[in-house]
Amino acid sequence: MHKLNLANLPTKIQRLSRWSAESGRNIYVKRDDQTGSEWSGNKIRKLEFAVQEALDAGCDLLITCGGIQSNHCRATVAVATHLGLKSAVLLRIGEEPPLDGNYFLDRLLGADVRFCTRDEYRDRRGAIMQEMADAYAAQGYRPYVIPEGASFGVGVLGYYFAMKEIVAQERELGVVFDTVVVATGSGGTLAGLQLSNLVNGFGKRVIGVCVCDDAAYFQDVAARISREALPYLVAQGELTAAQAAAWSASLKPADFSFFEEYVGIGYALSRPEELEHIARMARLEAVAFDPVYTGKATFGMVNELREGGRLRSSENILFIHTGGLYGLFPVSRMFSL
Ligand SMILES: *Cc1c(COP(=O)(O)O)cnc(C)c1O
Repeated sequence: MHKLNLANLPTKIQRLSRWSAESGRNIYVKRDDQTGSEWSGNKIRKLEFAVQEALDAGCDLLITCGGIQSNHCRATVAVATHLGLKSAVLLRIGEEPPLDGNYFLDRLLGADVRFCTRDEYRDRRGAIMQEMADAYAAQGYRPYVIPEGASFGVGVLGYYFAMKEIVAQERELGVVFDTVVVATGSGGTLAGLQLSNLVNGFGKRVIGVCVCDDAAYFQDVAARISREALPYLVAQGELTAAQAAAWSASLKPADFSFFEEYVGIGYALSRPEELEHIARMARLEAVAFDPVYTGKATFGMVNELREGGRLRSSENILFIHTGGLYGLFPVSRMFSL
């Protein structure tokens, strides 16, 4: 595999015995929140491939974007600094942000920070990052721009290979996961898992729980970036050119599954019942889920595991804990404990 080796891999898989007993299903969690400290979470798996591409191209500056508490931006900054590269992040803000959580770490780890409004972010984040890249290039830097969440062709490889890691761990653990669940915010994690599931014929049910937008949007994104990933899979020796062409012709939005009912009141906004769920899980299993991604996804799982829910037919369920702990601290005052 041609990539950086930065993450602590393979990540552990643990059975959550009390949640399992409560739900009558075997629920396991894959600790991708423990891929590191500064670059903890799911984004490092994508960055191992994307930043290798940046180094291969001779780049010395990583530019990316996200919300003010973006885990992806923090991980990108950590990787850049670790490798001796410069980093610049475009952060979406409402008002002047407190120096806390991931944003604090962005600053601590030495990133250049540029802010934009929600409207600018939605309408022209790509154009703003290109302006930033042009300005740095004029100073002699060689920038590499990573889109939101590193959810683009080369980034998809991170969870393509994570799915193979899961299947190798199944043999060691003596369990077969029929269902894999993950939180979805920009689509690259789900796309990689499901592309691997399809290409390698693993036959699992792979579900993304949306924390923003809706299922139709993410089905389009996942199909598109999975297609973009195919040439990289050829380069990595996973597919022949003919196989890649066949998958490119056949991949369609309906190949990707999402639950869209758990966005709640919006991206990075929490309802009291979601925070209560996070506290309950922390006390039940000593696993801290984050308010933006994994808390919403597991809140959805609890609901879907009930009578008549869409996870009722699953026996062995693997939830991928994609990280986000630093995002829990800035909302600590919203908990009633
Ligand atoms: C980014 C992120 C996700 C979502 O992954 P995508 O590939 O963007 O869909 C889930 N959990 C955490 C903690 C994240 O930071």
